[in-house]
Amino acid sequence: MSDATAAPQTDLSAYTTLRLGGPAGTLTVATETDQILATARKAPGKVLILAGGSNVVIGDDGFDGTVLLLRTRGIRVVEDHGDSVVLRVAAGEPWDDFVAYAVEQGFSGVECLSGIPGSAGATPIQNVGAYGQEVAHTIVAVHAYDRRSDTIRVMPPAECGFAYRASVFKHNDRFVVLEVDFRLARSPGSAPIRYAELARNLGVEAGDRVGLQQARDTVLKLREQKGMVLDPADRDTWSVGSFFTNPVLGAAEWAALGLEAPHWPGADGSVKIPAAWLIERAGFAKGFAGDGVAISSKHTLALTNRGEGTTEALLDLARTVRDGVRGKFGIELHPEPVLINCAL
Ligand SMILES: Cc1cc2nc3c(=O)[nH]c(=O)nc-3n(C[C@H](O)[C@H](O)[C@H](O)COP(=O)(O)OP(=O)(O)OC[C@H]3O[C@@H](n4cnc5c(N)ncnc54)[C@H](O)[C@@H]3O)c2cc1C
Repeated sequence: MSDATAAPQTDLSAYTTLRLGGPAGTLTVATETDQILATARKAPGKVLILAGGSNVVIGDDGFDGTVLLLRTRGIRVVEDHGDSVVLRVAAGEPWDDFVAYAVEQGFSGVECLSGIPGSAGATPIQNVGAYGQEVAHTIVAVHAYDRRSDTIRVMPPAECGFAYRASVFKHNDRFVVLEVDFRLARSPGSAPIRYAELARNLGVEAGDRVGLQQARDTVLKLREQKGMVLDPADRDTWSVGSFFTNPVLGAAEWAALGLEAPHWPGADGSVKIPAAWLIERAGFAKGFAGDGVAISSKHTLALTNRGEGTTEALLDLARTVRDGVRGKFGIELHPEPVLINCAL
C-alpha cells in the first residue's frame, strides 16, 4: 500500500462544482481503498469525505479538519447470472463513466441517470435519482467502512434506508462508502421509461422501452438544456444541481392547502410538489440574482455561483427563496445538498 498524499491548507473551492468553500485543515487524496481506511482510522478529529464535490456547500471558512478526497477507480463484474450481472464499482469512480460503460456493454438499469456529476460512491448517500430512475432500484449492496465499529460492512438495501433523496448515509459521518454493487439486466433495451417528459422526447408511451444509447443520449440532451451537465465554460452549471428537494406533504396538509399545483401522488397518500413551480409562483424567475450568485438562467432549482460569489451570498439567496415560498404558500423548502460548516 502506498501512502495517501496529504497537503495542508488547500482551498476547497477547487474541489466543489460551486467553486466555493474555504481552506481545508489537511487534504488527503486516496487512490486506493487501503489509503481511505488508513486515513479514516488515524485522522485526528473531524474528517470530511469529499469526492466530486457536486452535492456540498462548504462555508467560506472551509473545514478545519482532514478532508479525504476519494479518487479510487474500478468497475468489475462480480456475478454473472446470464440475464443480469452484478457490477462492483469503486467509490471514486466518476458516476457518468460507469453509466457510459454500462450502456456500451448492454447493461440496463442506470441509463436514465446519465450526466449526473460526482462519484459512484456518493450515489447511495442521497439515493441519486433522475428521469424516473434512482440508484435504489439497482443497488444490491453497499460496502462501507463503519467508523464506529472499525469494520467493513456489506450493507443490503434493507439496511441503507433509501428514500427520496435520502438514506442512512446522508448527514451521517459514521460510514465511508468504499464500493457499491449494482445489479443490471443484460439487455439492449432500457428499463421501462417512467418519466413523462422523457417519454415525450423519445416519442414513446410511458412504460415503453427504447435502446440504451437512445435513452442516454436523450437524457443528456434534456439535461444540457437545463444546465444539468457540468460545463466549465457555462456558469449555469456552477451549482449543486437542485438546491431544494421537492416538498412532500401529507394527504391532510395537501387537502387543507387547496392548491392548484402540479403534483405527484405517492402510494401512501402523500403528495410531492415541484419546488421549481413554488419558487416561480413566489416571484423568483430564472436569473433572479443575489451578490455574485443567481438562480440559473436555465433551471429554477439551481442556485449558481456566477464567478464572484461566496458561500454566504449563495445561502442568502437560498434564504430569500425559501422565505418567499414559505410566505406565499406556507410550505417549507429544504436543501438537497449537504451543508458543511455553514447553515441555511
Ligand atoms: C449540475 C448538477 C446536476 C445534478 N443532478 C442531479 C440529479 O439529477 N440527481 C441527483 O440525485 N443529484 C444530482 N446532483 C447532485 C450530485 O451530483 C449527486 O448528489 C452526486 O451523487 C454527488 O456526488 P459527489 O461525488 O460529487 O459527492 P460530494 O459532493 O463529494 O459529497 C456529497 C456528500 O456525500 C458524502 N460522500 C461522498 N462520497 C462518499 C463516500 N464514498 N462515503 C461516504 N460519504 C460520501 C460527502 O461527505 C457529502 O456529505 C447534481 C449536481 C450538479 C452539480
